[in-house]
Amino acid sequence: MKLYNTLTRKKEEFTPLQGNTARMYSCGPTVYNYAHIGNMRTYVFMDLLRRTLKAEGYKVKGVMNITDVGHLLSDADDGEDKMEKAAREQKKTPLEIAAYYTDVFFKDLARLNIGKPEVTPKATDHIPEMLSMVYDLCEKGYGYETSDGIYYDISRFPDYGSLSGINLEDQQAGARVEVNDEKRNPYDFAIWKKAPKEHIMQWDSRWGMGYPGWHIECSAMSKKYLGEVFDIHTGGVDHIPIHHENEIAQSYGACGKNPAKFWVHGEFMCVDGGKMSKKLGNTYTISQLEEMGYSPMTFRYFCLNTHYRKKLNFTFPAMDGAKVAYERLCEAVLRHKGGTATVDAEKLSAYEKEFREYIADDLNIPGALGVLWTMLKEAPSASVYDLALQMDEVFGLRLKEYVPAEKQVEVPEEITALCEARIAAKKDKNYALADSLRAEITAKGYIVKDTKEGYTVEKA
Ligand code: AMP
Ligand code: ZN
Repeated sequence: MKLYNTLTRKKEEFTPLQGNTARMYSCGPTVYNYAHIGNMRTYVFMDLLRRTLKAEGYKVKGVMNITDVGHLLSDADDGEDKMEKAAREQKKTPLEIAAYYTDVFFKDLARLNIGKPEVTPKATDHIPEMLSMVYDLCEKGYGYETSDGIYYDISRFPDYGSLSGINLEDQQAGARVEVNDEKRNPYDFAIWKKAPKEHIMQWDSRWGMGYPGWHIECSAMSKKYLGEVFDIHTGGVDHIPIHHENEIAQSYGACGKNPAKFWVHGEFMCVDGGKMSKKLGNTYTISQLEEMGYSPMTFRYFCLNTHYRKKLNFTFPAMDGAKVAYERLCEAVLRHKGGTATVDAEKLSAYEKEFREYIADDLNIPGALGVLWTMLKEAPSASVYDLALQMDEVFGLRLKEYVPAEKQVEVPEEITALCEARIAAKKDKNYALADSLRAEITAKGYIVKDTKEGYTVEKA
């Protein structure tokens, strides 16, 4: 398969560095607030990449960090720690804030059918690994001390800026970077911060109490779980100019290597053509969309229709369109269930081949969806149904779980109670009770089906 590599600005053939396993690191959320639909677009993209790699026959070892300390208000080194600010405003401890938003984040991933990466390390659990990298950078002459922290000297790394293609001389002439007298170069960034007394999260170091810089977290955790060099690093495009440049610089300093062979970035989601921002009140969450009648699968389908390297503009008319189209797609798939028409085997394999070519061409998911739509126009055929579900292993649109509108009747409370009791019985491993509850539900004219999240119930 081919993937676009931001580092080389080319589509390149992907093969894992070691054996058959694709080792992939994805920058995870800063858990100080609810993740918004823009963040979620980036994780849908991560999931599509994971699923495509698997469809191509690779195993995937994915690592996604949870940033629960050190991400300051700006991606550079300005402002308060986002976690500390949220804790202060919500009168909670940073730990409570992190636990709450991490939980909501993972629930949102599950609702969007985003596969959880194999390892999801928290920054606060990896302070020793980060400190050891900071010490190493200092010993090798990359790190230096100032009155407020330890900084990385980018003049020691001539390739700095190669990922984003920024010209440092032009940038430094502009006043974009805050000038800190103690920094050797304006683009030097903090790898460790000395903690002011009021900073709640702080750990002991050679320089007294402090806390890690945001960028060192990803370098230390990717090295720990994936090794010095791994296959793919993902994130949103906003990470290219600062966060990922800094990760590369740190890994070069500590290990002499760029940590990832492929750097793959998802484009942004905007709202009504503009930036998503709390001030404008347009940063929706998956739950808010659901309250407005747009299911997580509708949102996922909406994301799938635009290539991950193109900007995606969120509007409500576009979501209405996605809602109708997703339902039509599900109906079209269902039409083939148990269908008896015969579709030429050659024709079927041509659909499959075309589908594979699209996904293997830098995740052309919109193209692959087009193949599915065309195939569904065939006369109702069980083999089309099977192939559609096979394709859905990549799309992740839960096409198999769809319940048609006429069966989506209000479920009486009595039936819901029986279903809940059955789930509880299953949890207790009381399968005899679970079976008898299922029989009771069936006798009352309903069908209960188990799903990853729990169950669905419909009229028989
Ligand atoms: P953060 O929690 O701010 O570190 O962001 C989590 C992920 O969401 C990162 O990979 C960002 O690049 C990504 N992201 C942030 N805003 C957007 C957006 N508007 N559209 C797409 N991805 C975004
Ligand atoms: Zn990162």
